[in-house]
Amino acid sequence: MGLIVQKFGGTSVADAVRIHRAARKAIDAKERGNQVVVVVSAMGDTTDDLIDLAKQVCTVGDREIAPPKREMDQLLVTGEQVTIALFAMAICAQGHQAISFTGGQIGLLTDESFSKARIQSINKQKIFKELDAGKIVIVAGFQGVTSDGDYTTLGRGGSNATLVAVGAVLKADVCENYTDVDGIYTADPRIVKNARKIEKISYDEMLELSGLGASVLQTRAVEFAKKYNVPLHVRNSQNDNEGTWIVAETQNMEHIVVSGAALKKDLTRVTVKAVPDRPGIAARIFHSIAAANISVDDIIQNVMDDNTANISFTVEHGDLHDIKPIVEKLVKEFGGTTAAIYQGELAKVSVVGVGMRVHTGVAERMFDALAKAKVNIQNITTSEIKISCIIDKDHGPIALQAVHDAFDLGKARA
Ligand code: ADP
Ligand code: ASP
Ligand code: MG
Repeated sequence: MGLIVQKFGGTSVADAVRIHRAARKAIDAKERGNQVVVVVSAMGDTTDDLIDLAKQVCTVGDREIAPPKREMDQLLVTGEQVTIALFAMAICAQGHQAISFTGGQIGLLTDESFSKARIQSINKQKIFKELDAGKIVIVAGFQGVTSDGDYTTLGRGGSNATLVAVGAVLKADVCENYTDVDGIYTADPRIVKNARKIEKISYDEMLELSGLGASVLQTRAVEFAKKYNVPLHVRNSQNDNEGTWIVAETQNMEHIVVSGAALKKDLTRVTVKAVPDRPGIAARIFHSIAAANISVDDIIQNVMDDNTANISFTVEHGDLHDIKPIVEKLVKEFGGTTAAIYQGELAKVSVVGVGMRVHTGVAERMFDALAKAKVNIQNITTSEIKISCIIDKDHGPIALQAVHDAFDLGKARA
């Protein structure tokens, strides 16, 4: 007998029929003799719809304010709360016992960073008590509470983080992430038609792919899975096919030079122009941004002739609301001719593979493929196991397909 934690994403619980189908998977696992915990997301596009509603309410005339973060989380946690109750009912309707819990009810405590909270602890006794009583336990993904009892959310795609965190504290034998595709592919199968399902991928490669746009798994969840060595299996909720295993790296993985390609859409470049060129200025800028919990990437500094520098970096479009007031404050503080420019409509195409550590020529092949596809590269960043290029947003899908084909990712491995 083992312990399995399953997670069903929004599409997999989008209506009553799908909830019943997902409930059946949980029951099957239970009938095979396992203890089963299920983490669920909000139904279908509920989270997007709630965000949209908040936007509408926060727009008066042509003035739009950023929704207060605490209230936003208060709103968003309702999505998952609907699913847990319906999911537990579906299991009961199929003749089995189930109980549902919100994040707060299983003591899923987080810090106070609304919208991007970090999990601090989970009360596993409460879950074990119900499992030992023979029930399937349903937990709301994406949410937690602060020590003051305020609701928090864990960032978009945060049910993945709940899955892995619950799996880690319960020492689950496996965490199954049920979604709307058969596993992790060599690129987003909705953009690249000949993308191929990968059997096994290392935590580090998955970490890069998630951060670079493969939103099938949230980056934080993969980080957590790696740290606690949680066995993670990504599968399709609509069939019984074997999916993709995310595992610790093995030596023979280095034979594969590039494992996958990814596209991150909706990036904005922020340029702070004519900042004083002296020690401490970059630290000042990036400290203020990091303090607001915003991640930046692709940093470039160009030193000018007049003792000033231009500092550029990219942020996700969704973070603009938060970053603008910080940048404007810095611009005022630096004074003089310092100014901020925002350039949207950018994307980033990347290739990832642990084999890059030992093989050369990857960058050349990638740049060549982009040139042939007539995609202009605006900036390049690399790490040990990835190469990324900033490009125009409109070129995104063509660029992804071009690099995918340049490394023959669609072809079956020998
Ligand atoms: P869920 O609602 O189950 O959490 P998501 O929509 O968050 O599902 O993630 C699944 C989607 O991730 C897929 O439909 C697919 O379009 C997208 N995706 C992006 N990159 C990849 C990839 N490399 N492999 C598989 N899916 C990917
Ligand atoms: N419902 C949340 C979202 O849409 C969490 C999740 O689905 O993982 O981001
Ligand atoms: Mg998701």
